[in-house]
Amino acid sequence: MDIAFIKLDDKAAKFVLSGATPAFANTLRRAMISEVPTLAIEDVRIYDNTSVVFDEILAHRLGLIPIRTDLSVYVPRSECTCGEAGCPICTSTYTLSVEGPRTVYSRDLIPQDPGAVPAEEDIPIIELFEGQKIVLEAHAIVSTGREHVKWQPTTACGYKNYPVVRINEAICDACGMCIEECPRGVLQVEDRRLQVVEERLELCSLCRLCERACLSGGIGEEPAIHIDADESRFIFVVESDGSMPVQEIIERALHYIQKKSDDLVEVLTEISGVAVDEEIRY
Ligand code: SF4
Ligand code: SF4
Ligand SMILES: [Zn+2]
Repeated sequence: MDIAFIKLDDKAAKFVLSGATPAFANTLRRAMISEVPTLAIEDVRIYDNTSVVFDEILAHRLGLIPIRTDLSVYVPRSECTCGEAGCPICTSTYTLSVEGPRTVYSRDLIPQDPGAVPAEEDIPIIELFEGQKIVLEAHAIVSTGREHVKWQPTTACGYKNYPVVRINEAICDACGMCIEECPRGVLQVEDRRLQVVEERLELCSLCRLCERACLSGGIGEEPAIHIDADESRFIFVVESDGSMPVQEIIERALHYIQKKSDDLVEVLTEISGVAVDEEIRY
């Protein structure tokens, strides 16, 4: 199994996973979405709210604000030594006190821990009119997307199979109809031969419009171009919501899978009494 990055920065990554099964690709996708812990606001104490929005809606909006999460500092409450009472190791506290007229933004949440600020400063929370006021205290805790979508570290996380384009040169007359139909500019004619534009192959969406265009040209029963999906190669696109760098999301998801795999091997070994071959581990 191999991972080759096409693009990688703090916010987004595009990479090719090779030598994996469709099951593993989906496991990685799901682990990145729902098994990597982040901070999100869970409890809100509202001291004053004279805005047009109910307390519950206000708390819901606060919960959806992504928060920078350093998992070397914070642990889930269930694992904390404070016995779920709430302490600086499992809880990040914010205060917000704003009077209208003005829009309240995520930057108005003042954190006790400067390392756990909202990931984006300009997320609008509510518009206050003259004389309206909000005063509250919010507590963020660590959990995962499995519990609630507000703890997902990704805004986009998906994959597609790597495209395989086969051209039957024996019947292709380089008429170019498939090129006109391709929405991604993947095909070209050079030296009177139909070819794939190499650097655009990964943009192919497997839509098969090229096959249909070829068939509509009355070339016969079979198109001269065939599009297939490589069942062992996957192009992933992952975007972070800003709570942590996208590389950390990928690494933590892979560690999660490794740990689950090790746990399963341990249980199977216990049940069968026979050491499970290393080969079956991911
Ligand atoms: S439409 Fe068919 S015959 Fe024409 S260039 Fe494309 S593959 Fe070749
Ligand atoms: S499958 Fe769609 S995107 Fe891919 S080469 Fe054919 S027309 Fe273009
Ligand atoms: Zn604690």
